[in-house]
Amino acid sequence: MTPPLRPTHLVINLATLKNNLAAIRARVGPANVLVMLKANAYGHGVDGVAPFIEPYTDYIGVAVLDEAIHLREIGIRKPILVAGGTLPEHVPWFLEHDLTLTVSHPAVLDAAERLSTAAGRPVKVHLKIDTGMERAQTRWYEAESLLEASLRCQHIDIEGLYTHFANSETLETPDLTKKYGYSYASDQLARFNEVLRFYEKHSIPRPRIVHTANSAAILNLPESYFDMVRPGVMFYGIYPDDECLRSVEIHPAATWKSQVVASKLTQPGHPVSYGSLWVSEKPVRTVTIPCGYADGYFRRMTNQPQVIVNGRKYQQVGRICMDQCMVNLETDPAAMGDEVILLGKATSGQQISAEDLARWAGTNPYEVMTNIAARVPRLFIQDANQ
Ligand SMILES: *Cc1c(COP(=O)(O)O)cnc(C)c1O
Repeated sequence: MTPPLRPTHLVINLATLKNNLAAIRARVGPANVLVMLKANAYGHGVDGVAPFIEPYTDYIGVAVLDEAIHLREIGIRKPILVAGGTLPEHVPWFLEHDLTLTVSHPAVLDAAERLSTAAGRPVKVHLKIDTGMERAQTRWYEAESLLEASLRCQHIDIEGLYTHFANSETLETPDLTKKYGYSYASDQLARFNEVLRFYEKHSIPRPRIVHTANSAAILNLPESYFDMVRPGVMFYGIYPDDECLRSVEIHPAATWKSQVVASKLTQPGHPVSYGSLWVSEKPVRTVTIPCGYADGYFRRMTNQPQVIVNGRKYQQVGRICMDQCMVNLETDPAAMGDEVILLGKATSGQQISAEDLARWAGTNPYEVMTNIAARVPRLFIQDANQ
């Protein structure tokens, strides 16, 4: 295979991912950990991340069935939960690939029971109860009928029960905020505990794996750990938002690198890039970076991002193009091939975070990472000095 020839690539330090997972485990133990690998491992490249991390995780989570089948096809054997909504007609794929089905809709429960009976083996099911997100089918105040229906199913394996927190960013109740930094999630947790009482009431054991915690809850809400936690963004070394407690030390695993492909003096009155949005008032050195919005370097960031060139931060200038963008080096020198960092830490100590890019793009770090295009090759390294 031809190695990636283009100078723009995303370097993923697998050792950092392993350390992040260990830090999460140290925080949540004895709870198990499901690592979220949806959306191409939050853009990090699932083909490199999944085989590396598989031995260290208890469970793997994805959003959609195709992501789970892909993981099986590249040889992943650990349990895989498909967390998103699934149509009844897709249940056979779960049986075929030994995947765990999320059930919040009674029709999916019926299909699971019927198809498991026909197949002569049980599909693994995690019941999902909506406690305040209005995304899954069954809400907490109507959960009993789904749980009762699940008890009537003889041919499926009800392995898990879970919910998902809606709110990791708003801090509403001052006393809870002081205690947890987290309030609506506390309401959701109370609702979920109410749902769990169904099992006590009927003196039957609850499903073996009860789970609720995303990254924000891992950081802020220890009461939410139950049997397993589901870290996504923090596994990759990114805190879910500014408000979360930094109660687990994590480090970003991704560095987005490039190289200078043009370096020249740009004269005053000579506008840079499409739309002539930026003109210098004095002669300055501008360099061209072969990375643009088709790579996920958002066009809407134009004139805002800082870019590290040769270890120092400079201003991106002019409209970000599809495949390239320009940077103003003022009076500093640069030559073709010089090192560029668009995201991550330079050896000089200068750093650009996913939060920085998110601020410039008017979004969150999740969208920044999951939009780094397939065209950007992922290079996997293991460097203990993160
Ligand atoms: C994406 C997702 C997570 C992980 O969320 P983070 O905020 O990235 O930690 C956990 N659970 C479910 C159901 C998800 O869809």
